[in-house]
Amino acid sequence: MKEFDAIIIGGGLSGSSTALNLSKKGYSVLIIEKEATGIIKPCAGGMASSMKQYLPLDIDQAIESKIRNVEFRWESSDNVNADLSGESPFWIIRREKLDQLLLDEALKNGIEILRPAQVEEIISQNKTWRIKCSHKDIYKSKYLVIADGSQSQWAGYFNLGPRKPKFANTIALRLKGLGNIPKDSVRFEFGFIKYGFAWAFPLKDSVNIGLGTFINNKLLEDEALNNKVLKSFGFEDLSFEKVHKKLRIWNGTHKLNGDRVVAVGDAASLCDPFLAEGIRPSLISSYFAAESIHQCLSSNKSDLNTYSIKINNEWGKSMAWGKRIAQIFYRFPKTGYQLGVKRKTAPKRIAQILSGQMSYEDIAKRVIKRLLTNSQG
Ligand SMILES: Cc1cc2nc3c(=O)[nH]c(=O)nc-3n(C[C@H](O)[C@H](O)[C@H](O)COP(=O)(O)OP(=O)(O)OC[C@H]3O[C@@H](n4cnc5c(N)ncnc54)[C@H](O)[C@@H]3O)c2cc1C
Repeated sequence: MKEFDAIIIGGGLSGSSTALNLSKKGYSVLIIEKEATGIIKPCAGGMASSMKQYLPLDIDQAIESKIRNVEFRWESSDNVNADLSGESPFWIIRREKLDQLLLDEALKNGIEILRPAQVEEIISQNKTWRIKCSHKDIYKSKYLVIADGSQSQWAGYFNLGPRKPKFANTIALRLKGLGNIPKDSVRFEFGFIKYGFAWAFPLKDSVNIGLGTFINNKLLEDEALNNKVLKSFGFEDLSFEKVHKKLRIWNGTHKLNGDRVVAVGDAASLCDPFLAEGIRPSLISSYFAAESIHQCLSSNKSDLNTYSIKINNEWGKSMAWGKRIAQIFYRFPKTGYQLGVKRKTAPKRIAQILSGQMSYEDIAKRVIKRLLTNSQG
């Protein structure tokens, strides 16, 4: 029976990028993926271009738009525009293409993938994982990576991430044509969706549209309202398939590793609870998971604690503020829109958040400083 350095459960963005990062270091990897072929992911594909630092390959083929402008609206009016001039900080990528590029490159480096396959049982024996799959074969590995996404079955089993995960409710559509969305612009539409917002991100010849609610587990079941939102993006023919997805969002600082096991991406509950940004934390967590496993394999230690610490520092601290901002903004969205989005400096800050130059923590500290200065003056 062949033994791998690492077995990864889930071959989406996080699983494929962890596999690629490990394969670049020369490790043997097996991905176990439950779907037969790459399915279209309900993901709008908005990604900070600064993330290329975590990608060990050229992803030009997956980039469909380079965004120069961000538009915010309150119920189809009261527009605010943020100019993302200069070096393009925000891309719209075709998600299925990005996942495939990562997987193909990892396969070229010698990783293996088993699909479609479901993991049925995981046992630890003499510091080795023994993983039993649906067709009864057993695979062995030294390390285990949980990358099975928002509906993760295994993160909870290993006590990784929050005990009670929080979810955003989302609807995703890919509509043909660009509606009224300019080619190099993304739009955030507030006011229509209670406890959330809608977004439209353009690909070359279609638009990824999303509707999301982020607190109180609010459902998106008002069809007439949903259609009104789609019409606000310039679409009349709404006979397209809508995909409903519960997206696991960040919900506190938690351990993301156990003994020889880590969770990455959505399985680790890393998605931004304010704007649903999940590509960035998926790539960051995959990168550092591979680094930590490499450190263990190359030094014969098995302490993965550095991984949890790194992710909580690099991402969790900002998300703690993102969660607070979401709780206030989505409860009082009109005030949030007027006082936050419409501030004179907002466009610049928004550009900095989307490009990854600024975190929610930086923004919150600025606001607190401003409030303190005003109250003293
Ligand atoms: C509507 C919507 C729009 C979004 N838009 C954006 C955006 O514009 N920008 C952004 O940054 N983020 C966005 N996100 C978030 C982003 O899509 C996710 O954070 C990202 O997909 C996480 O990748 P992942 O690999 O962790 O999970 P996934 O991509 O979900 O991959 C998980 C994989 O595991 C497999 N799997 C599941 N269970 C098992 C199992 N038991 N055994 C084996 N395999 C299994 C699945 O088949 C899948 O291939 C959006 C999310 C939604 C829902």
